[in-house]
Amino acid sequence: MIDSHMHLAEQVPEGYSDFPQLSRMVSCVAKADEWDEQAAIDDPRVIKCYGVHPWYAEDWTFENRKKLFDLLGSDPGAHVGEIGLDSKRGKILGQTMVMIQQLDIAEHYGRVVSIHDVGCEKMVLDALKGRRLGGVILHSYGSDSYIKPYSEIGCYFSISPRILSRSDIRVKRLLDAIPEDLLLLETDSPNIGKDFTGMRDFAERLGTVIGRSADDLLTKAEENLRRLFP
Ligand SMILES: [Zn+2]
Repeated sequence: MIDSHMHLAEQVPEGYSDFPQLSRMVSCVAKADEWDEQAAIDDPRVIKCYGVHPWYAEDWTFENRKKLFDLLGSDPGAHVGEIGLDSKRGKILGQTMVMIQQLDIAEHYGRVVSIHDVGCEKMVLDALKGRRLGGVILHSYGSDSYIKPYSEIGCYFSISPRILSRSDIRVKRLLDAIPEDLLLLETDSPNIGKDFTGMRDFAERLGTVIGRSADDLLTKAEENLRRLFP
């Protein structure tokens, strides 16, 4: 099993029963003061992403920009995230500048980016188009209408347990539209929501809604993550 978006620098996940059984996990940071803490995590299963989240755009200083550049330069296994845009919190103009500069750094090194997007699909899509990145993970994805353009540029759609608060019909419609080889599963742990108990349980519940087996979903997500991070 894999987890394609979590925050290990914040805390070791509580209530995540099968965390020890994960074979790979992508850990992101939100604020620059978490970078060192995450760098110190010693677990070969962890793929580390560094960045400044749109909620903390003011963290993006000249020094931190240089630090991110150096971090990626010194660690070929490091990637960029969580970065992006959030229409519901903060100012989009400032967030856009911060996201673009981080995308530039990721592109410079050809690394993967993990994207947070609330209500800014078109802007994020335009910012990603034509870039030579190592790949794109759209974290906690939920928008039907952008699956086509995002999949055309090879973005991965990472589904979190939050999706299960939607009606079964909407969940099935969304999942049916996502290309098989671009599907990922995540928890956003430690922000896992009260009814999350484990990745397998999540895959079982999601599988029941969309008419697929948990094993099938877990295997597919693992295969896809391993392709993204060879
Ligand atoms: Zn997150």
